[in-house]
Amino acid sequence: MSDCLFCRIIRREIPASIVYEDDRVLAFNDINPQAPLHALVIPKRHIERLTDLTPQDDAAIGELARRAAAIAREKGYADGGFRTVFNTNADAGQTVFHVHLHLLAGRRLGWPPG
Ligand code: AMP
Ligand code: ZN
Repeated sequence: MSDCLFCRIIRREIPASIVYEDDRVLAFNDINPQAPLHALVIPKRHIERLTDLTPQDDAAIGELARRAAAIAREKGYADGGFRTVFNTNADAGQTVFHVHLHLLAGRRLGWPPG
């Protein structure tokens, strides 16, 4: 059992505003939202970062992408557009070492990102 922040959210030891849950995936609103919709979509299995993925994780990562799109659709942002981001390691600003897909929508999102 991992004591990482997001594992603790999965176990309900820390509160979160949950937007989706099933056996394998949890999605909750980011505590410091950077857009009107800013959710984090995570696998329930603890994986620290994308560079730790193995072929066994392919289905889990696919589910994150599919679920992010479904949440964007449900919240009314699918046609207007949304952004999905995995930050990996220090230069990308990863601060929580449990893989999470950021889902951002509801404002014009600049490119390239900062
Ligand atoms: P990253 O910087 O890509 O590792 O993203 C981590 C994200 O987790 C940041 O956007 C934080 O705002 C968010 N975060 C940190 N603690 C919590 C929490 N307790 N509940 C929800 N989101 C959180
Ligand atoms: Zn974890």
